[in-house]
Amino acid sequence: MNTQLKDKITKEPRIRTTQDFHEQRVNQGRNVGLINLGCARNLVDSQAILGRLKKNGHRIVDINKADIAIVNTCAFIEEAKKESIDTILDLIELKNQGKIKKVIVAGCLAQRYAKELAAEFKEVDAFIGTPQLDKERVPEQVYLTPQHYAYVKICESCFNQCSFCAIPKIKGKFSSRTIESVLAEIKQLDERGVKEINIIGQDITAYGMDIYREKSLAKLLKAIIPVTKNIQWIRLLYAFPAHVTDELIDVMANEEKICKYIDLPLQHISDPILKNMNRGITTQGTIDLLDKIRTKIPQGSLRTTFIVGLPGENEKHFEELLNFVKSVQFERVGVFVYSKEEGTAACDMPAQVLDKIKKKRLDILMREQQKISKSVQERFLGRRLKILIDEKQRDTEGVYLGRSEYDAPEVDGLVYVHSQHKLNPGDFVDTIVTDAYEYDLVTEAVF
Ligand code: SF4
Repeated sequence: MNTQLKDKITKEPRIRTTQDFHEQRVNQGRNVGLINLGCARNLVDSQAILGRLKKNGHRIVDINKADIAIVNTCAFIEEAKKESIDTILDLIELKNQGKIKKVIVAGCLAQRYAKELAAEFKEVDAFIGTPQLDKERVPEQVYLTPQHYAYVKICESCFNQCSFCAIPKIKGKFSSRTIESVLAEIKQLDERGVKEINIIGQDITAYGMDIYREKSLAKLLKAIIPVTKNIQWIRLLYAFPAHVTDELIDVMANEEKICKYIDLPLQHISDPILKNMNRGITTQGTIDLLDKIRTKIPQGSLRTTFIVGLPGENEKHFEELLNFVKSVQFERVGVFVYSKEEGTAACDMPAQVLDKIKKKRLDILMREQQKISKSVQERFLGRRLKILIDEKQRDTEGVYLGRSEYDAPEVDGLVYVHSQHKLNPGDFVDTIVTDAYEYDLVTEAVF
């Protein structure tokens, strides 16, 4: 190999785009396995990576049977980065044992730290950044979700510059798919017998602001409904509070197929902290929005997330958040401790909060929410509830696991369904709620 090329390779990390990777056309028909880390948006990227590999003649196999192992990484917060690094090390270990031939690192960690990773992990064969969202065409995908539900990513990245978040830096410019492209994918999913679609993005409420120059999620939903025959549930995940419109709330309230489930990460409630977070909404703005949603969708389930310990957060700000959670009684809540991310505005802010205080605030908030969640679940006792069956409970006859329209896959509670009749994944069944726990419900199927 000539010295120039050698220099080039050693100097420049082996970063390739998914395009490069697929066009390499070497060793057609390899066994490829993939480990997906992080959020549902990453899962859709993994499905697209596998879809193109399959189209290029590779066989998609379980990671234990793979020649080429891909890990699609997450780099959102410290914890996620650690999990990604651990997985890379595991794959390198398998390669050193000769169990796999190539290790490919994809996703947000590779996008964000390509140079550092290449210097650190010489055993890795390629680093693939995060794929560009194809606005027009329906991506070839190998679906990694069970047959009866799917995630549909309608846009990538976001306009918002929340001070604690590195995602816009990782994912680049905000980008929406065309309505035609989304409808084409949903028609395909409907024909495949999918029953539930989860609409995702970093900020789905900004959908269309780039290509249609206006917030177009409500318009998109109105176009989706008529093309759904098998699909019974359309769930919206990752709405940005400052971008929720009255039109969107009306469509959610009036369209039966749209789950009465609102995933609305608020992150905080105290004005000085919302300002520090650059969330583009105030305490009063948040309260008004929640009042509107509760009024128009009274039976709706509100999911949200909060970050405790952002720089500048003091006991008074935290008390305000705790009292807010007690008064709103959210149905579903996730709480994170602030994670210092280099390159974000909050990283250099003064008054960084000690880890032990962050942890204490997280525990207090989660304990309070656990009590609220129990009382929320108990309100379902004796009520009729339509359940989508996900699977049969292992080793227990006549018991199945499912979800109501108030439970998103993988993040919310489970519903245990006792049934005299055999049920299959993807079946909808009417049930009566017989028992309630903090996060899960027990029901009896009624035929
Ligand atoms: S809305 Fe804020 S937190 Fe969410 S991806 Fe965008 S910048 Fe990050």
